[in-house]
Amino acid sequence: MAAPPKSPAELLATPVQFLKGVGPQRAELLEKLGLRTARDVLFFFPRDYQDLSELASVADLAEGNLTRLRGTVEDIDQRVSASGNIVLGVLLAAEQGRVRLIWFNAPFRRERFCLGEQLLVTGKPKLNGGMWEFAHPQIQSIDVEEQPAAKLLPVYPLTEGLNQGQMRRIAAAVIEAYVDALDDVFPDDFRASHDLWSIDQAMQAIHAPADREELEKARRRLVYQELLVLQLALALKRNDQHSRRSAPPLEVTGKIDARIRRLFPFELTAAQSRAIAEVAADMGRPHPMNRLLQGDVGSGKTVVAVYAMLLAVAHGHQAVLMAPTEVLARQHAATLERTLAASHVKWGVLSGGISSSERENLLRELAAGELNVVIGTQAILQPDVRFARLGLVVIDEQHKFGVRQRASLKQAALDPHYLVMTATPIPRTVAMTVFGDLDVSTLDDVPPGRQTVYTYLVGQDQQDKWWTFFARKLREGRQGYIVTPLIDESSEADVAGLEQVFESLVHGPLDAFRVGLLHGRMSPSAKEEVMRAFRSGETQALVTTTVIEVGIDVANATLMTVYRGERFGLSQLHQLRGRVSRGTQPGYCAVFSDAQTAEARQRLEAFAVTSDGFRLAEIDFELRGPGDLFGTRQHGLPPLRIADLARDAAVLDEARRDAQQLVASDPTLATPEHSLLRQMVLRRYGRVLELGDVG
Ligand code: ADP
Ligand code: MG
Repeated sequence: MAAPPKSPAELLATPVQFLKGVGPQRAELLEKLGLRTARDVLFFFPRDYQDLSELASVADLAEGNLTRLRGTVEDIDQRVSASGNIVLGVLLAAEQGRVRLIWFNAPFRRERFCLGEQLLVTGKPKLNGGMWEFAHPQIQSIDVEEQPAAKLLPVYPLTEGLNQGQMRRIAAAVIEAYVDALDDVFPDDFRASHDLWSIDQAMQAIHAPADREELEKARRRLVYQELLVLQLALALKRNDQHSRRSAPPLEVTGKIDARIRRLFPFELTAAQSRAIAEVAADMGRPHPMNRLLQGDVGSGKTVVAVYAMLLAVAHGHQAVLMAPTEVLARQHAATLERTLAASHVKWGVLSGGISSSERENLLRELAAGELNVVIGTQAILQPDVRFARLGLVVIDEQHKFGVRQRASLKQAALDPHYLVMTATPIPRTVAMTVFGDLDVSTLDDVPPGRQTVYTYLVGQDQQDKWWTFFARKLREGRQGYIVTPLIDESSEADVAGLEQVFESLVHGPLDAFRVGLLHGRMSPSAKEEVMRAFRSGETQALVTTTVIEVGIDVANATLMTVYRGERFGLSQLHQLRGRVSRGTQPGYCAVFSDAQTAEARQRLEAFAVTSDGFRLAEIDFELRGPGDLFGTRQHGLPPLRIADLARDAAVLDEARRDAQQLVASDPTLATPEHSLLRQMVLRRYGRVLELGDVG
């Protein structure tokens, strides 16, 4: 009896082990790449392509022109030059002659080459003693078993035990056998009006493009689809929050507004007033606010947060302010203490640093509704923390938390309003994805009197001069920071490195001064003591890590020294620089670096001449990609498989507009023509964005 024919969905779910050319052993390797089914292999896109078209021959070479050529390794030698450099040379037989590839001081590279291997080389040649030489070229191996007719070969991510040729053959077989099983989520007329290839055509071409033009068409289709699905998920989420969830309406009245504003010892800036109006309008509705407040370091976001919290309190609701670090939570507590000195608002601090009896007390008061405001760290998220009437959650430095944590303070009946803040300017494209379900307010001005910070890049030979200057300023009564990059705050070896810096300073250029040391491995009470001593001026300089990156506000500190600046992202450096623009005196920021790579120099030079945090975030993003800050780990969304936010900004705009229109016309994607899209959205984002009950 013949088995019934499989449905397309069943076909696509075929385990990789049953695919042509795979088998149980190779299936394990594929599993390591996250490939379990035929569908996974189809959507496993090449990370790059080997371009075998337009290869140069040796006769065409011209000095300094970026060139691609192909050749066979004939000889490998390594020697020490007169100047003491280790020089690795690879002699390559190419079309119409020989060329030499050279690397300086990269002995580990030697192992990479073997005689007879074919290489694709990209670089700029230089004539040296009659021989063309490529210094530090880009190289790729060409699989000689296959002599493909194709000119553009896919390059897949690999894992040990699986080579490029094998992966190419597996992918090619899967496309041939399964591409027809894919349903096109876009109807024909939609494709025509949006200039999109069909899914089979795009899928074939992305894995085996005939030329660049085909590759671009295929990419466009797949990038658009990926971004549309993401934007649909975010639009559904947003729609759900705006219309289906309930929150207490906390309207602002003239009287409440006047009572809150009286507490601030200064006039609010225009941007602060605008943001407050947006926040208050949201909070006045019976649906939860989901708003992102972004603004450069020092733009005064805390004022907006305090206003929102007091608005909740005015209606008899409780408010939470959550910060990513203990130090920052304490800092917010100090601000609140000053601001609320003349009010009846009751507030407390909940962090890892308080005693268990203090904690018990606090939890009791919170649950009984006796406490109006609580400030704290992630400790607030523990399950035994209960609120009587939670009305507002403010999260400072949102990017330090994940999406999931944002969700976990939800309550049974009514949701609280959410205000999340970030001082890390976010490139627009990233904001539209990571924070795409939020409304955005921007503080685009700074309070009056903000100081200029002079920025210097300091090489090894200029450090003495900087320390002389640093010491002079300390003698004039100023204070300063010294920050070193730590890879891992909790690692002993790293902390030892920091302590070394501390020792070298207190026995060197800063031996006449009182210097504190602060890092993540210290106990909360020790940290608090170090901060107190610095705030009060007892210590004049503070050796520390990026624990001070966010929010530390000591107006008298005007000096910032950053060790190994190349290790930091520009946004991070900008945050650090922001620490010394708080008082009445100009600030000075020195970035130590002996970085040699062109990229590092370019970044640091951009930093020295640019004081606009948004611009710096964009530059960093262009040069380094989204990096850790917006890595998947942070925001909790699955990674994009083909779209590149830096490169595909225009498609992102298009997809976002289209998604908003689609959801406006069909708020749960319930109509039959959207059912495939809806399935795809739920499959990819349903769980992480908690879209389960949509529709
Ligand atoms: P950030 O946006 O970096 O969190 P803060 O809220 O910490 O900035 O504010 C930075 C400093 O500016 C604080 O010392 C705060 O008291 C002060 N500040 C905020 N708003 C104003 C204002 N409208 N006028 C004067 N100073 C202000
Ligand atoms: Mg802040």
